[in-house]
Amino acid sequence: MAVDFDGVVHSYTRGWADGSMYDPPVPGALDALRDLMTRYAVVIHTARDAGQVAEWLDGHGFECVLDDGRPFWSVQGQLLVTSRKLPSVAYVDDRAVLFRGDWAEALAIIETGEPAPTSAQLTAVYRERTHLLAHLAALYPSRLRDGGDPERPGWAVLDVELPTGQASWHIAPRDLDLLTHVPAGPGQWDGHSTAEKYERLEALTTTIANGGASG
Ligand SMILES: [Mg+2]
Repeated sequence: MAVDFDGVVHSYTRGWADGSMYDPPVPGALDALRDLMTRYAVVIHTARDAGQVAEWLDGHGFECVLDDGRPFWSVQGQLLVTSRKLPSVAYVDDRAVLFRGDWAEALAIIETGEPAPTSAQLTAVYRERTHLLAHLAALYPSRLRDGGDPERPGWAVLDVELPTGQASWHIAPRDLDLLTHVPAGPGQWDGHSTAEKYERLEALTTTIANGGASG
């Protein structure tokens, strides 16, 4: 287990400053390290001089070993302090960007500074979206058909025939309980893109908002 030092163990509230380690530990950090050390070989991974960091950790009651160029660290109960990246099951770092195999996502996280949503958050957002789609499907002729996507087994497609054209959404199997009022049918996607879908929806919204007929 690799643990970054500044911002993770040492509070680092003023950044590099004069290069000294001026701050107390991050609350909970020392207990967390002791806990991790009972289960993992823990490496403190720092861009600082490893000796300086080892001295600080030593002052807080940790037995440290300075990196001597070994290829990996497998000792529990002592901390290896290194400025090299060693193999690890995980890297705990306050500047990390979680890479999940999707460069577009990683670039968006870097750009916005926002963490990627967790799968639990995505599930909740899909659920809220389906509540709104269920309402839309009650207003306009709609049907559910098999999504036919081998990568998303069980997902359905909801086609809503808006007065401004068809609009289709993928629906997770766990959300189908919100769409029991929508008949199943073979259906036919008219080839609209996501951009076209939202243009159609927006055109209808504008018409209704301006007092025009909704259908
Ligand atoms: Mg850091």
